[in-house]
Amino acid sequence: MPKIYFDYAATTPIDPRVAKEMASYVKGKFGNTMSLHSFGQEAKFVLEKSREKVAAVIKAKPNEIIFTGSATESNNLALKGIAFAAFSNAMVGQENQRSREFPTDHLGKKKHIIISQIEHPCVAESVDWLEKQGFEITRLPVDKYGLVNYLDIEKAIKQETILVSTIHGSNEIGTIQPIEEIGKICREKNVYFHTDASQCLGKIPIDVNKMNIDLLTASSHKIYGPKGAALLFIRNGVKIEPILHGGGQERGLRSSTINLAAIVGFAKACEICDKEMKKEAERLEKLRNILIKEVITIKESYLNGHPEKRLPNIINFRFSFIEGESLAIQLDLKGVAVSTGSACSSIKLEPSPILLAIGLSPQEAHGSLRISLGRWTTKKEIDYLLEVLPGIVENLRKISPFKG
Ligand SMILES: *Cc1c(COP(=O)(O)O)cnc(C)c1O
Repeated sequence: MPKIYFDYAATTPIDPRVAKEMASYVKGKFGNTMSLHSFGQEAKFVLEKSREKVAAVIKAKPNEIIFTGSATESNNLALKGIAFAAFSNAMVGQENQRSREFPTDHLGKKKHIIISQIEHPCVAESVDWLEKQGFEITRLPVDKYGLVNYLDIEKAIKQETILVSTIHGSNEIGTIQPIEEIGKICREKNVYFHTDASQCLGKIPIDVNKMNIDLLTASSHKIYGPKGAALLFIRNGVKIEPILHGGGQERGLRSSTINLAAIVGFAKACEICDKEMKKEAERLEKLRNILIKEVITIKESYLNGHPEKRLPNIINFRFSFIEGESLAIQLDLKGVAVSTGSACSSIKLEPSPILLAIGLSPQEAHGSLRISLGRWTTKKEIDYLLEVLPGIVENLRKISPFKG
């Protein structure tokens, strides 16, 4: 039986080129970047080289990149850090002053944050927590394709608004938001703009300047790098407070001893993605389109998310009268690993809030399946899936309690 991985959106295997690059840091080079001796200085040099490589992929300056441990951490830092900096009018981590000032009569009153209804749980739950601390949150609805209307954002922004945060490419349905338009509005309205680009880094072009992005999150283990490394891009001049206090690493914004092996791997992963992005996206789009075209010919099967404005590698289908979980289990028995949504919601067995936000009923949401492709996906694997899927769907429908 084959063993096929179609869950690259949950996490990716480490590219052998990345593992090779990391090896010497795992085995021997162990210096602390904060130490003054040669061990420390060598580590510091490698850290800054890595920062340059990572920054280049999103067209940022190296000193605008903070390394963190995960995208979850980056999102928490972005949301809570901006919220508290605005609220307390504190200024931390500001060696580079190119600050966009807020009108002084509103300092300390800026406590309104706008997100979309299709954010990753680490964004959604961070703002739920901020709401409990007294911040005001607007959660904007999306259309049936999962798109935020940037005009809705414009309307929602008020004098008290400090931050707009929208996911870039959806980890569940693959829809890509109009980031450039949202960024333009935020810039015009003098509101910070953060985007969670965890599914986009290295997969579609990102230019933080052209897109007017002030803060951006991305994670190493979604792009064939190791777990335990991620980034938060923070535009120079943005006022933000740390959430981890201590030794003052990462411009005082993320105290903790640097995980150099993971960061070296992350940087190598970025380099590879950047170089191979265009060709790889074309290759995956081709496979994705074959899959979509064929699967929707199965009776009562539909594509979730936008037909065109979508990531090259994430596909989400909905099958009437069956449960995504049963389908995923049956596929697993045939050697195919897929998921029923975000890795975080699939164990909760509650309908995905993202699928409800695009207008699906709880039953339709439960009948959905995410298939995500990646670097080692082949046409042969797609063919195998297309061979086994229709039979499984048919068999499950025969025993379905939903069908009258
Ligand atoms: C995977 C993912 C995260 C969480 O990333 P970690 O590095 O595992 O914390 C956050 N946002 C999106 C969009 C993701 O796909």
